[in-house]
Amino acid sequence: TENKPVDFIRNIINEDLASGKHAGVVTRFPPEPNGYLHIGHAKSLCLNFGISEEYEGAVCNLRFDDTNPEKEDVEYIDAIKADVSWLGFSWNGEPRYASDYFEALYAYAVELVKMGKAYVDSLSAEEIREHRGTLTEAGKNSPYRDRSVEENLALLEGMKRGDYEEGTHILRAKIDMASPNMNMRDPAIYRIRKAEHHRTGEAWCIYPMYDFTHCLSDAMEGITHSLCTLEFADHRPLYDWVLETLKTPCHPQQIEFSRLNLSYTVLSKRKLLQLVDQGHVSGWDDPRMPTISGIRRRGYTPEALRNFCRRIGISKKESRIDYTILEDCVREDLNEKAPRVMGVLAPLKVTVTNYPEELVEEMDAMNHPQKPEMGTRKVPFCRELYIEQSDFMEEPPKKFFRLGPGREVRLRSAYYLTCTDVVKNEAGEVVELLCTYDPESKGGSTPDGRKVKGTIHWVSARHAVNAEVRVYDRLFKVENPEKEGDSFLDNLNPESLTVLTDCKVEPGVVKNDNGAFFQFERTGYFNLDPVDSTPEKPVFNRTATLRDAWAK
Ligand code: ATP
Ligand code: MG
Ligand code: MG
Repeated sequence: TENKPVDFIRNIINEDLASGKHAGVVTRFPPEPNGYLHIGHAKSLCLNFGISEEYEGAVCNLRFDDTNPEKEDVEYIDAIKADVSWLGFSWNGEPRYASDYFEALYAYAVELVKMGKAYVDSLSAEEIREHRGTLTEAGKNSPYRDRSVEENLALLEGMKRGDYEEGTHILRAKIDMASPNMNMRDPAIYRIRKAEHHRTGEAWCIYPMYDFTHCLSDAMEGITHSLCTLEFADHRPLYDWVLETLKTPCHPQQIEFSRLNLSYTVLSKRKLLQLVDQGHVSGWDDPRMPTISGIRRRGYTPEALRNFCRRIGISKKESRIDYTILEDCVREDLNEKAPRVMGVLAPLKVTVTNYPEELVEEMDAMNHPQKPEMGTRKVPFCRELYIEQSDFMEEPPKKFFRLGPGREVRLRSAYYLTCTDVVKNEAGEVVELLCTYDPESKGGSTPDGRKVKGTIHWVSARHAVNAEVRVYDRLFKVENPEKEGDSFLDNLNPESLTVLTDCKVEPGVVKNDNGAFFQFERTGYFNLDPVDSTPEKPVFNRTATLRDAWAK
């Protein structure tokens, strides 16, 4: 659709521009580089970068919120950049890093101390927890709360120099230990961490907390609308307190929207990391993962993902989106774009007994029946073919219009075929069909105009390429894996991956670039696996079925 999205956030922006509150719009996408982006992040990306594309002169910053050195890694930074670019978004200038602001943030912390608005607490973590109180009970002031400015400054400098062990001191904002909002009960703003940082190395041994870093980073970058998920609504008073207390020239407006939850999966980097670390999947980019890299490897297009985000929209209402909506989006896009080819997943040998032994014909096949502009290709036909095992039944029921003894079907883009005999192995299983073809039926009809109900796909056995096909199902068995069982891991679907190793595809298919996508006629959408596929041993992923297999 060409229409611009409409939602409550864009309405606020429209009002802010109309009233002159802002002359332009600056948003940011602020991932913590502690994992790969998932499809929930795609929602936030499409919102923040989408707005920057819709409004004249608007920009969106990419900022890495890198204040937890132990959990973060450059591998994640590179993956996040690749994912954002793949979705087709471009960030404003260079990527930014909260760690670039460490000096500035420290200066702000010193300022708070000098204003008497922050203090060094020397209680243990346990004692601090005890002093915090509960939702129904006010907290208690720390005995260190009234330290003098001089003492606080000296301690903070000592913390920065590395004089103290982790956990011995912490810098806290001095707000209100009786606030009904727990986030306002003297929240921590700096803690000691003697850890090497992936960007600043050993320059720092104190690191700022998220709530202190985030609002000030937003303000320093001149963000106008700081869009985040609903769990940060309770943090907004602190966001505003920090900026008001420090009187920053820019005070961005934080606006919360509901996060994406998707059925049959989990969207939390911590949990996705567990799946990777414990080997439940092959990696962050396993095609079953709800990560952007997994979805990409599975054969999804950026357009499919962006359409999905557009379709689910932005609101404040919590909901769980049905996985089939995501699949519908990729089907819609690939239905338009994917060239049609023939591939047999479970082959059954066919010998066309009346077809000349040495003859090979090149049959003309359309690359997209509804789109002649996508052209045609040559598909070799000879005496030995493969068809799908499921397209033959020895004793077919009435409504089965495919092949059976004495029955006739149309071979897609080739001839009519009649089954005359069945070859079985010692176990009594059908291992080959003997068939005849009608030489007059080339092109899909015969001079006598007789009716053939079924059309099936096939490949030439002499020319077919052997391929591995990976068929995926839901990663979890239940709609909300976090709600059932002792752990979300109890709900993993043991049958989420089926590897078919004896598939046969028409020869031209594997010459395409890695990542190329196809519709295997009648079977589904597939792409060449960008990691494991080689020209010698092609590997396909099933991106999606042709129809919603779950909507039985
Ligand atoms: P996770 O809980 O998966 O680790 P996070 O919120 O900690 O996610 P960040 O890297 O901090 O991940 O998030 C970057 C941005 O993406 C934030 O603005 C966050 O609100 C947003 N975001 C994260 N998860 C979702 C989601 N499921 N739906 C929408 N936005 C999300
Ligand atoms: Mg986070
Ligand atoms: Mg989180």
